[in-house]
Amino acid sequence: MNCNKKIKYPNKNTALIAVSRINSDPSNKDGNQTAYECRHHECWHTGHPKDYSDNPFVRINQIFEQKKPKKKKGKYKTN
Ligand SMILES: [Zn+2]
Repeated sequence: MNCNKKIKYPNKNTALIAVSRINSDPSNKDGNQTAYECRHHECWHTGHPKDYSDNPFVRINQIFEQKKPKKKKGKYKTN
């Protein structure tokens, strides 16, 4: 994914405002977008979650969100 063509927002707030505008647009049928920080441009972009795959910072955040604190006590023994 090339984010050079994406709109650059100076901070999270402006990106989130843009996202809410995009997501409330009835002509937007591509699904909801979210805002994410871009380390390359030191700014914020909007996009679909699948676009994040080349952005390690956001990917880490997503991994953290997916791994919600569920404590399983089942330990697998490998011997
Ligand atoms: Zn970028």
